[in-house]
Amino acid sequence: MKKLKTIFLILLIFTLIFGLAYRAFDRVPKSESTEFLFDTYCTVAAYSKDADAAVSAVFDELSRLHSLTNFFDESSDVSKINRAKHGEKVKVDPCVINIISKAQEIKLASDGAFDISIAPVSMLWKFDENTPTPPTDEQISQSLLSVKNSGLMVDADEMTVSKTLDASMIDLGGAAKGYAGDVALKILREYGVEAAIVDLGGNISCYGKNPNSKDGKWRIGLQKPFAPTGEYSNTVQLTEGAVVTSGTYQRYFEHEGEVYHHIIDPKTGRPARQSYQSVTIVAESSMEADCLATAVYVLGTERGEALARSRGAKVYFK
Ligand code: ADP
Ligand code: MG
Repeated sequence: MKKLKTIFLILLIFTLIFGLAYRAFDRVPKSESTEFLFDTYCTVAAYSKDADAAVSAVFDELSRLHSLTNFFDESSDVSKINRAKHGEKVKVDPCVINIISKAQEIKLASDGAFDISIAPVSMLWKFDENTPTPPTDEQISQSLLSVKNSGLMVDADEMTVSKTLDASMIDLGGAAKGYAGDVALKILREYGVEAAIVDLGGNISCYGKNPNSKDGKWRIGLQKPFAPTGEYSNTVQLTEGAVVTSGTYQRYFEHEGEVYHHIIDPKTGRPARQSYQSVTIVAESSMEADCLATAVYVLGTERGEALARSRGAKVYFK
């Protein structure tokens, strides 16, 4: 009897081992990595054989893009532009030219609701400090002058950017992650990765067949504002493209009972006041979706929806 029991046990262990091994071989291989960049956790998951090199190349480029666009890094291209005097031609990386050009296009399309020249005002709110306080009306109107009068000249042949005002400053916080999402997918495709999903702090971009779903589609849960992380208000299904959310619930502070968040209306110089807490854009390009999410947040439901529709994007308000 004891012998029989032992044989049964050995057989059971073998079945388990072979079963697990079979499942492992059956699965689509996955390379995944997470790093803290752009002030958020960035995850790249590539479904393909030997995709480690591709994922690592993506992170090299994301880190380079972060350094180039970081408002707080004195050696970034953005800081070089911000320190420059009017008319001075600042030589920048081609990526910075691409981001600024796209941002200017969305500024025009959104009637100024998206404006990277917002920096002199957005920095007054000090969202990145421990104890932020709202600026005074005088400070806001003073800084708004340099936002309203600011002009940026981009020379894509010379790879230079120049300003029309000494006081002009740019902030790529509402665009750089979006651009990075598009670049990440481009690199993964160049490496021959069959399917991938990239999450740059809630900016999602994906392509290929999702091996974890029967129909191969990607399902992206839309975070419920001010609810615990992972509690969703909606789910978006897509085969490829970008899903980007701009919300007031990630970066905000409270002062004397008022809540102040980081999406600034360039017309008033204050956090955009709306009845919703987040805007999600579904579009082909993550860069386009990123800029549109911020622009639509500022514009409101009617004008925002019209802008999204005119650019072939879908919008969800929550
Ligand atoms: P997140 O970086 O949290 O994804 P968003 O994509 O919504 O946020 O962009 C908000 C950031 O963009 C702000 O932190 C600020 O740096 C910048 N910003 C704020 N208001 C505007 C605006 N009206 N136009 C362009 N950029 C903005
Ligand atoms: Mg954005």
